[in-house]
Amino acid sequence: MKNSKIIPYACQDIDQSDIDAVTDVLKAEFLTQGPKVEEFENSVSSYCGANYAIAVNSATSGLQIACQALGIGPGSLVWTSTITFAATPNCVLNCGARVNFLDVSLQTYNVCLDDLENKLIDAEIKADLPDVVIAVHMAGSSCDMSKIHQLAIKYGFKVIEDASHAIGGFFDEKPVGSCDHSDITVFSFHPVKIITSGEGGMAVTNDPVLASRMKKFRSHGISSDPSDMLERPKNEIWNYQQVDLGFNFRMTDMQAALGLSQIARIDEFVAARRRIAKKYDDDLKELPLNLPKRFKNVQSSYHLYIIRIKLTEVKKSQPEVFDFMRKNGVMVNLHYIPCHLQPYYAGRGFKRGAYPNAEQYFQEVISLPLFPHLSSGDQERCIELLSTALS
Ligand SMILES: *Cc1c(COP(=O)(O)O)cnc(C)c1O
Repeated sequence: MKNSKIIPYACQDIDQSDIDAVTDVLKAEFLTQGPKVEEFENSVSSYCGANYAIAVNSATSGLQIACQALGIGPGSLVWTSTITFAATPNCVLNCGARVNFLDVSLQTYNVCLDDLENKLIDAEIKADLPDVVIAVHMAGSSCDMSKIHQLAIKYGFKVIEDASHAIGGFFDEKPVGSCDHSDITVFSFHPVKIITSGEGGMAVTNDPVLASRMKKFRSHGISSDPSDMLERPKNEIWNYQQVDLGFNFRMTDMQAALGLSQIARIDEFVAARRRIAKKYDDDLKELPLNLPKRFKNVQSSYHLYIIRIKLTEVKKSQPEVFDFMRKNGVMVNLHYIPCHLQPYYAGRGFKRGAYPNAEQYFQEVISLPLFPHLSSGDQERCIELLSTALS
């Protein structure tokens, strides 16, 4: 091996201001769910233009309380794209509901809108329409939310945006998370994502009722808000009540302080990601690859740079290219193995062959290193290695 330095596919960007922000909390009064959590919530809601934000300990938890706030439970049906992380369909099953998958578009890697519409027409005939559709913004590029919103009105389903990849992105000039075309949007602050709080997530919404429900689910179903409480005997102390069944999904103040310090740099992060993506766009265009398509009304947060190998023009297989890169220290990745092919979902009856675009995508894609402080030298090395691998 010429160069033994390992280049990851993603990496958090932590500076002294982040470290100071967390240490300050350790010296202060509250370690968990104190003033920093509320400040972080306010900062995210004003950044994306939503009325309410509920910070939680992961996007997985955010998806869970989003589904529950929308009434998902036994007897409900939720649809989502098969190209997503396990957390997206899992939250549905963890509500005791049924999940079904949708195919993706090979142009956007988001849910295929034709597949969605055809399945809705069919489901209306069979009286098995979904209660909720979870739209996943792959790699940081928003789904066509106005089209999904139109279908939501026509067929009467609610919409959650899984924007784990997409804080910092825009659709029709509005920030992802404005919830203009959805009920709830969920962000992830896992270290590989755009900004991090270590572990962490947030659900944003414009609906006060959904916000209040999600707040309760975050903390055991308990409320100390008098307007949530039922009447109790006057000679007993009822300063809080458990009015629903919830969880402990709370974010700590250390996490919130880190998140706050990170969101102050989000524009810088996205600009650096855009610059790196642009270099890949320019330097890879002669190779036998399908590069990410850009759309006028969508501005990506550039969470991932996903290439698709043109297998008919290349002698090597995708696993060979993947292994070659990794053996040479470039830790490429694959986002994602289609959920319906995972042993767990296959065991629930999902069949290979059912989602042809997603399965083709799975055979062709590789995610290249992309993070704000990826040096131009390291990026050059990735480009050269890839070009060698494909030749
Ligand atoms: C990362 C991710 C999640 C889960 O996020 P956590 O914060 O790790 O729980 C969910 N959905 C998608 C699409 C993701 O990429």
